[in-house]
Amino acid sequence: MSQKKDYYDLLGVSKSASAEEIKRAYRNLARKYHPDVNKQPDAESKFKEINEAYEVLSDEAKRRTYDRFGMEGLEGGGPSGPGMGFGDFGDIFDIFFGGGGGTATGPSSMAERGDDLRYDIELSLEEAAKGVEKTVRYNHLRNCEACNGTGARPGTQPEMCPSCHGSGVIRHSQNTILGTFQTTATCGRCGGKGRVIASPCVQCSGSGRMRKVSEINVKIPAGVDNNSRIRLSGEGDSGIRGGGPGDLYIVVHVKQHDIFERRGNDIFCEVPISMVRAALGGEITVPVLGGEEKITLNEGVQNGDKFRLKERGIPDINGRGKGDEYILFKVITPTRLSHDQKALLRQFAQSMGETIETPEEKSFLGKLFRG
Ligand SMILES: [Zn+2]
Ligand SMILES: [Zn+2]
Repeated sequence: MSQKKDYYDLLGVSKSASAEEIKRAYRNLARKYHPDVNKQPDAESKFKEINEAYEVLSDEAKRRTYDRFGMEGLEGGGPSGPGMGFGDFGDIFDIFFGGGGGTATGPSSMAERGDDLRYDIELSLEEAAKGVEKTVRYNHLRNCEACNGTGARPGTQPEMCPSCHGSGVIRHSQNTILGTFQTTATCGRCGGKGRVIASPCVQCSGSGRMRKVSEINVKIPAGVDNNSRIRLSGEGDSGIRGGGPGDLYIVVHVKQHDIFERRGNDIFCEVPISMVRAALGGEITVPVLGGEEKITLNEGVQNGDKFRLKERGIPDINGRGKGDEYILFKVITPTRLSHDQKALLRQFAQSMGETIETPEEKSFLGKLFRG
């Protein structure tokens, strides 16, 4: 990545711009530089740049990361990871196909749906397996209560824009040697809304929405995995001019467990056992999710042997049964034996009719010499 322009500069907004200001700036620029409209040679690259800037600045989580860490923060993937954004494609459609039938958008007094928001939550493997209820605190835009979302001071109404007379667009005629050209552009005074607020609401400075911290209880079902998404309908940003609210997406991240490894709905766990236990078998205690359980081993467990504990894994999120737990045995060979212990082992070897070599070792070496 070579030097890149600042995303805020690209959209021509300040660092403290509201989501609405960013969206408006993006729309205006996207209209101006869309390669279908603008035939300047650098229009396409410019269009890509502003799209990239908008993708980041319109996503609250990405914008926060960008503000704190700049471009590097985003390229590292961050907590969002690649492909996890909720790019609002509706926006782009709005610009080129909405309202004005493809050319210029008409008075966009039309309602606008609020943005979807994303909240990342971290769970332990136990929580993911059992399901859990969490309280989420998050920041979103809610309708201003003082003006009921209109943006106009209580008791007043937004008025028709005197520049465009409510159409939201300004037409220009341009005389050239080839004839007269009509161009239409979004009205700068009302930003295409067709209406202006003469005396803005003091509470929300005329935006109609206010930032608010809300708390919401989220029931996370048993069986969720990394990147599972839970949609809370209508809990995102409030809409504009009567538009419906966006949704809130809870994105799950499951922490790595100290001893269990999850593969699908099964869990795996490595359990060390002594050489003697491996040879003699018997009852041992092994970990299961949220506790422990006794199992009985056969004699002669080999290193790497698997033992299956049926249905001790993770429940399927769609209710289709439960995964299993697999214990992988790691047989520990004793070290630092005392003189007496070594003597016992030699005695044991003799009782097996061996010297120190096992029959396996002998036949293995035999193969070597047979060539
Ligand atoms: Zn207000
Ligand atoms: Zn206007």
